Amino acid sequence: MKTADVLIIGGGIIGCSIAAELSRAQVRVLMLERDRIGCEASGEAAGMLAPQAEDIPSGPFLDHCLKSREMFGPLQELLKEETGIDIEYVRSGILYLLLTEDDEFQGRRMFDEQRARGLKVERWDRQQVLEAQPQVTPTVRGAFYFPDDHQVQNARMVRALSILGARRGVQIMEGAPVTGFVQDKDRVLGVRSVAETYYAGKVVIAAGAWSGGIGELPGQQIPIQPARGQLLSLETRGDFFRHILYTREAYLVPRPNGELIVGSTVEFAGFEKHVTVGGIEALLAAARRLVPALGSRPILKAWAGFRPWTPDELPYLGDIPGSPGLYIASGHYRNGILLAPVTGQLMAELLLEEQSSLPLDPFRLNR
Ligand SMILES: Cc1cc2nc3c(=O)[nH]c(=O)nc-3n(C[C@H](O)[C@H](O)[C@H](O)COP(=O)(O)OP(=O)(O)OC[C@H]3O[C@@H](n4cnc5c(N)ncnc54)[C@H](O)[C@@H]3O)c2cc1C
Repeated sequence: MKTADVLIIGGGIIGCSIAAELSRAQVRVLMLERDRIGCEASGEAAGMLAPQAEDIPSGPFLDHCLKSREMFGPLQELLKEETGIDIEYVRSGILYLLLTEDDEFQGRRMFDEQRARGLKVERWDRQQVLEAQPQVTPTVRGAFYFPDDHQVQNARMVRALSILGARRGVQIMEGAPVTGFVQDKDRVLGVRSVAETYYAGKVVIAAGAWSGGIGELPGQQIPIQPARGQLLSLETRGDFFRHILYTREAYLVPRPNGELIVGSTVEFAGFEKHVTVGGIEALLAAARRLVPALGSRPILKAWAGFRPWTPDELPYLGDIPGSPGLYIASGHYRNGILLAPVTGQLMAELLLEEQSSLPLDPFRLNR
């Protein structure tokens, strides 16, 4: 297919979620992925669904996050039924550990704010923490428990969304890097890839950290930068942890297969995709401070990925002013896995010219 109603640039979780949502309508959708589906941040993330632990302030962004978090239960069922893939949505809750006086001070503010918003949060004392998770350092002062913050296996979720879309007619091309836009004056008519030109009624940029460098757009900048995150994983036994453990310096995410994800650094190092001695050393030290017994666990692997960062740390969602036919859904920074379901829904509503379920205006490119 060299023409489409909607062409999506990028096969990460955002592109795949939009494509899967669009596939409910009678539109021809083409997705071009430079490399492989889910090969960048979406396959590399820690998979937390954590608007509360991330301390996101009240406002339209939190509204998107909370709406999206609610969508995971039904989405898990749908993906299992239609693709046979279990995305391992685990209702593990997050235990936000308080290790210092400053943590307790910040924690009290978070607790009060979240309670005032009607969100579920429990205050646990030291003994409750150690009863629930005896491996945690005995110097812990207490914790907040967020019973509604959970996790998902993000690499499986991208794959399942892409299969759902493909089964419903989305055409997906891997190994198809977009190198520029086809334009008539300002209107975007399609894109160029290495071997082909593709035409589409609407083109959506969903290329994660690369979204700002797809092609020339006169008078328009998309100020998205890569924020590198390093992660590693350890082998633990069975149900070593019941909950995700979260602190201001690191988090530990226990996956159902016994793998424990330790994350993550936040670094502005361009597109240098490697793990560093300093990065891994800091993660290991933080993990051992939280759970001393981890010192004897085998390291499985270490890796790095690029979060799509924007200057105000909010995503860009909507049409691109001054470039009719061109849209963007990118810049989800630390919360793209969490936000994928709602972003897919809202972008599909916009592209299909339906009523929007939540406001998109706060997320326009030229806000
Ligand atoms: C270490 C780390 C931990 C994280 N942990 C969490 C977490 O716990 N919870 C959470 O919600 N979020 C987390 N995130 C953030 C989340 O991973 C991202 O926000 C999300 O994956 C972004 O999805 P995306 O589809 O926009 O980008 P990506 O997954 O990067 O996908 C973009 C795709 O576009 C393709 N592409 C690029 N250029 C082109 C081109 N020219 N032509 C065609 N295709 C192109 C790329 O190959 C890529 O596949 C984490 C991120 C990192 C790095």
